[in-house]
Amino acid sequence: RAKEQGSGAFRFFDKRMNQHVLERLLTENALRLALQNNELEVYYQPRVNVESEKIVGLEALIRWHHPGRGLVLPSEFIPLAEEIGMITQIGEWVLETACRQSRIWSDMGLPPTRISVNISAYQLSSPTFVERIQRVLGASGLNPCDLELEITESSLMKNLEVSCEHLNSLRSQGIFIAMDDFGTGYSSLAHIKRLPIDTLKIDQSFIVNIAEDHNDAAIVSATIALAHHLGLNVVAEGVTDEEQVAFLKAQHCQELQGYLFGKPRPAAQTTELLKSPKSVFATAVL
Ligand code: C2E
Ligand code: MG
Ligand code: MG
Ligand code: MG
Repeated sequence: RAKEQGSGAFRFFDKRMNQHVLERLLTENALRLALQNNELEVYYQPRVNVESEKIVGLEALIRWHHPGRGLVLPSEFIPLAEEIGMITQIGEWVLETACRQSRIWSDMGLPPTRISVNISAYQLSSPTFVERIQRVLGASGLNPCDLELEITESSLMKNLEVSCEHLNSLRSQGIFIAMDDFGTGYSSLAHIKRLPIDTLKIDQSFIVNIAEDHNDAAIVSATIALAHHLGLNVVAEGVTDEEQVAFLKAQHCQELQGYLFGKPRPAAQTTELLKSPKSVFATAVL
């Protein structure tokens, strides 16, 4: 087809391709420098307990302040970081930063919150994963039970055997493990039964329409019940309105996370939030 349209079509295609390749290269180079240029920042999003109306946890979520593009979200650079082999370095930096920050909050006498850090499949399957986590945790002075690692369902399934071995070892030391984005991967019930996890985080795609969509409501109710029966903690992600809260509360899902209770925000603003936690519930009437 392109040939019939003359050489112009080829040139157009080449130009677009070059543009794409060039952009990727620029991003790749910028990302390699982002750490040393202090362009990365950890934001924190509260996780709340519906019954106690307290912030029980904070999820560390990375942000990139790109000099030209402004705030870049993880979905735009974490996959690239994995591809170019930078995820180990970046992931360790997030873990260090979050643990140090959590220690600062605890030293300030603020109410205790568990810190959750996202771990990529690549990190999890590294032979030195367990040692690295131990080293960072030890240096931070945080208690193991103050740390939770979030592993997506699909990451866990990628290298099931070695992942389980690593997670078992960390769990035996008191670190909590959460399965993130639950429902979007391919783990069977047989797996769920014996996975080394403490918490299921129900993916936000199931939560968004629970008030209207009977199928989503059924899936969420069943997941909450399953978690309870297996002795797992359960968290609903992406909670944005009161109707969702009412539904989740009726289903006995104790822990919720979502914009309704607060968007991810920088450490300084999180300190303010922890100092006056009631503000979290000011908009969210439970
Ligand atoms: P995740 O771990 O499932 O984190 C939850 C994501 O949902 C976050 O997006 C958060 O901002 C967003 N979110 C929370 N509440 C709501 C809500 O009510 N509505 C909507 N629409 N979104 C909500 P974010 O920060 O863009 O992160 C996206 C994903 O990137 C994370 O998903 C996680 O898989 C990954 N990620 C973030 N930080 C890191 C990191 O330090 N290391 C690794 N390996 N992955 C990370
Ligand atoms: Mg997460
Ligand atoms: Mg998630
Ligand atoms: Mg996600």
